[in-house]
Amino acid sequence: MRIGFIGLGNMGGPMAANLVKAGHRVQGFDLVAASRDRLAADGGAPAATLSAAVAGAETVITMLPAGAEVREVYEGGRGVFEAAPRGALLVDCSTIDVATARSVASAASGRGFDMLDAPVSGGTAGAAAASLTFMVGGSDAAFARAAPLFQAMGKTIVHAGPSGNGQAAKICNNLILGISMIAVSEAFALADRLGLDRGKLFEVSAKSSGQCWSLTSYCPVPGPVPAAPSNRDYAPGFTAAMMLKDLKLAQGAAQATGSASPLGAGAASIYQMLVNSGLSDKDFSVMARFIGGGAVSTSP
Ligand code: NAD
Repeated sequence: MRIGFIGLGNMGGPMAANLVKAGHRVQGFDLVAASRDRLAADGGAPAATLSAAVAGAETVITMLPAGAEVREVYEGGRGVFEAAPRGALLVDCSTIDVATARSVASAASGRGFDMLDAPVSGGTAGAAAASLTFMVGGSDAAFARAAPLFQAMGKTIVHAGPSGNGQAAKICNNLILGISMIAVSEAFALADRLGLDRGKLFEVSAKSSGQCWSLTSYCPVPGPVPAAPSNRDYAPGFTAAMMLKDLKLAQGAAQATGSASPLGAGAASIYQMLVNSGLSDKDFSVMARFIGGGAVSTSP
C-alpha cells in the first residue's frame, strides 16, 4: 500500500520503519530534517513537503504531538484535506482530546474521507518492536481497511467504537495508570519510613490485592523489576510530561461530560509538581523518587 506518514518523531519514526519492513511504500514528512533522513535510512521515501508526502497515498497516517498540530496538518492550507487523494483512508495515531478527534473526523467525512482515531500505548520500545496496542475509533469499514497496517505496527488492536472512542479508551487507561503509579510510589515511601524492606513489600503486593501493572511490570523503585526505568535512573519510557498531558486530557473530558474524577484531578496536580521540579523528561515512574524524597506535602 502507498502510505503518506506525517510526524516521524520518537513514535512515528519506528512505526513508519515497520510499515516499510512490511512491504509498504512509505512517503514521509516531518518538520525536522533529521527525522526525514532517518526515514530514508529505514528504506522509506522522505518528502520535502506535507503535500508531497500525501500525494497519491491510499492511506495517510499522522503521529503528532497534540490536537493543535493535528488540526493544522489536516485542515491547514496545503494540508491533508487539500492534498490527499479523495477516498484516501486517514488514520491519526496521536494522543489528542476526544472533541478535536471527533471534529476533525467529521470534517474529513464532509470532504469524502474515512477517518480513524487510533492512539497507541506501548511507548517507544513498543513502536520499535511493532508490539503497540492500538485503540481505534471510527466505522467498521474504515477499521477493516486499516487492520493490516495496525498489524504491521502493533500486537493488540481494539476497535473501541465510533469516532473519538480510541482517544476515550486511551485517556481512561492512562487515568488509571497515572493514579496507580502514585499509589505504588506512596506505598513504597511509607514502607521505607516504617522500616519495611522494599523487596518484602513487592513480594507481598505482587501476589496480593495491591497488585497492578505499575507495581509488577513497571516497579517505580529499583530492584524488583529489572527491565523497569527505575533501574536506569528513570530514562524514559514514557515521560512525566506526557503523563501530565494525558491526565489533563482526561480532566478536560471529565469536566466536559460532568464526570467525577477527584483522584484524576489530584494526580494531575501531583504530576504538575513533578514536571515543575525539572523532572519532566524523566520516566513518569520517577514519581517514587519524588514522593519518597519528601517533595510532596504530607498533609492531604
Ligand atoms: P515527538 O515529539 O517525538 O514526535 C512528533 C513529531 O511531529 C515531531 O518529530 C515533530 O517535528 C512532528 N511535527 C509536529 N508538527 C508537525 C507538522 N505540522 N508537520 C509535520 N511534522 C510535525 O512525539 P512522540 O513521542 O512521537 O509522540 C507522538 C504522539 O504519540 C503524541 O501525541 C504522544 O502523546 C503519543 N504517544 C507517545 C508515546 C511515547 O512513549 N513517546 C507513547 C504513546 C503515545
